[in-house]
Amino acid sequence: MAPMPIRKLPLLLINQIAAGEVIERPASVVKELVENSLDAHGTQIDIQIEEGGRQLIRISDNGTGIPEDELPLAIDAHATSKLQTVDQLEAINTMGFRGEAIASIASISRLRITSKATLNGIACESGAMLEVHGGQIQPITPAACAPGTTLEVRDIFFNTPARLKFMRAASTEFGHISSIISQIAMVQPQVGFTLTHNGRKTLDVSPDSSHRRRCIQLLGKELDDAMLEFEHVDPPTENASPNSPPPPRLWGLAGMPAVARATTKFQYVFINGRPIKDRSLNHAIKEAYRGLIPHDKHPMAILCIEIDPTTVDVNVHPTKSQVRFREPSRMHGLILHSLRQCLLANDLTPQASLGGFNRAGAMTGGGIAGSGTSGGAGKISFSRSGGSSSSSGTSPSAFVQHFREMDAAQKGFIYQQIKEALPPVPPAPPEATQGLLPQNAAQTTDPSNPEASNGPPSELPGGPGAWELAQRNSPGGAPALPILQQYNILQVHNSYLVTQDDQGILIIDHHALHERVMFEQLRNRILGQNKNLESQRLLMPATMPASPGRLDLAEQLGPLFERIGIEAQPIGKESLAIHAFPTLLFDRKVDPITFMEELLDEAEDGKVDLTNPNLDEAVLHKVLDMMACKAAVKGGDAMTQAELAALLAKRDEIERSSNCPHGRPTSLRLSLADLEKQFMRT
Ligand code: ADP
Ligand code: MG
Repeated sequence: MAPMPIRKLPLLLINQIAAGEVIERPASVVKELVENSLDAHGTQIDIQIEEGGRQLIRISDNGTGIPEDELPLAIDAHATSKLQTVDQLEAINTMGFRGEAIASIASISRLRITSKATLNGIACESGAMLEVHGGQIQPITPAACAPGTTLEVRDIFFNTPARLKFMRAASTEFGHISSIISQIAMVQPQVGFTLTHNGRKTLDVSPDSSHRRRCIQLLGKELDDAMLEFEHVDPPTENASPNSPPPPRLWGLAGMPAVARATTKFQYVFINGRPIKDRSLNHAIKEAYRGLIPHDKHPMAILCIEIDPTTVDVNVHPTKSQVRFREPSRMHGLILHSLRQCLLANDLTPQASLGGFNRAGAMTGGGIAGSGTSGGAGKISFSRSGGSSSSSGTSPSAFVQHFREMDAAQKGFIYQQIKEALPPVPPAPPEATQGLLPQNAAQTTDPSNPEASNGPPSELPGGPGAWELAQRNSPGGAPALPILQQYNILQVHNSYLVTQDDQGILIIDHHALHERVMFEQLRNRILGQNKNLESQRLLMPATMPASPGRLDLAEQLGPLFERIGIEAQPIGKESLAIHAFPTLLFDRKVDPITFMEELLDEAEDGKVDLTNPNLDEAVLHKVLDMMACKAAVKGGDAMTQAELAALLAKRDEIERSSNCPHGRPTSLRLSLADLEKQFMRT
């Protein structure tokens, strides 16, 4: 068969092919045109849509406009006002630069540009209008219009039936448009936007000086208290010279763990004002929330990154929604660390609201995120405790606050009370230091391990003098416990601890909190102090049957075992003997064999590679999580007042106390304001 002759493609076809890459659906047209309006320094952009964009897309701006004689150039492929040299491509600061958007759109629709340019600050006398029908340019005519540009796109895909077939229902297409506009509006607070669909206004935001306010307006105001604002400027790298590009900056809003969603849809990442999708950055976000949200949830976050344009390539994809960083790992680290810092610095306790039916359906039309909750009773809302001074970010319970204000003698008195409330101390194994509760506190023998201590009560200089003094101060030398009780730590149904803080009533799931406390202590020892966990030798080794495969696995787990204080040896070919076991688990009477079985199951399961000899953070997290869960007091376990007090004191000291290592909340707060409202006291 003779070869087909090589021919140059007609221009219309070239543009339609380009359109195939850039213009996927009406929302792509909207994105390109709004970006042009931003590049033209418009401060008000109005978007009008008919039938999901199939009938009409009209974008008006008050920007610099296009001079009449340049109108034909605007619709020419590869014609742009934004790029003249190759060097500029490196340092691109505008949204567009390929010069193909309008040409592509004109090739698959009926397009009309009406514009009045402003030159040297003076608006031209008259405007001009140009129409293109499926690539066919019509003559320019004069037009009466305000300074700025209006682009109208009708009958999109009318001459590309294959594309037309892929158009979805008007509501679906409009959904995409609305989501794009919201994203753009999120990074352009200084620009006003309106969006109208079939004559109904769905978005109206005026220029705003506050970036946060603009974002909340778009997310929905019910999220106001759930979004934590943060800012970060990366320090210059070590080998930075005066000519090095400025370090990256980041501004953002981090969602509280309780507003985490089922998808990453509510993570908005912008690079130099451009919305992008980047899996590695999504991963950094997720990683920052490790242990604060359940595995199957994804945090809400808005991240606006400003970086030197020469350090990022935005030209890897026609729609410019993907980018390539020169230092991808630095970007990953920037996001991970600044988000994590923000989360550690804030009180993440969610607020449980009593009423709510009066607030049901408070979702505003402008919201794009939705509240995720159905409203009505039992709704959870959020409150940031403004300016919490505590380093861990938790606002201290009333007990802890009061405790901190006491002088040494009073503290000694409380300490004594706690001691007296303890059950008799069993003979202490020499290394037992990891426990949380006071009965273990009494056994603390490792002075080099301050984390093993038990918060304020155990740190007290409770000498006999202090005791007497305190007793004199106590009204009528009252018995020890009632003094503690005056701080109102109440255990209900042996599962919840109820107390107060400066903002209201705190309800704490004591298993979840204890688990977090254990976890942080273990983590601090292993990662913070880089020590192995303490180990308890068993008088008699615990032996369990194990297949050859499992014995092999146990051998591969050697590095992990060493780290967490397990010593295990095969006996023959069919059993495994455990000779030493982590002290923490031993103290909490966890059965070595059950624990080992579970550990081997997890290793076999392979979701986290526990045999990896490098023992990265993911591996340790997994295992410490297992240990903390096993060792924590269970729901249903009765606790003494002293134990409750010690647990509460710890809450204030550790990091991430708002959630257990699996991400479930440890605490809820009923705010005083809400109580007052519900009891009609206001
Ligand atoms: P690019 O944005 O990549 O330059 P486009 O095809 O989107 O390519 O636009 C071509 C040119 O038309 C732009 O470079 C700009 O000069 C001009 N233009 C497009 N839209 C507007 C607008 N709303 N206001 C002013 N000029 C515009
Ligand atoms: Mg453009």
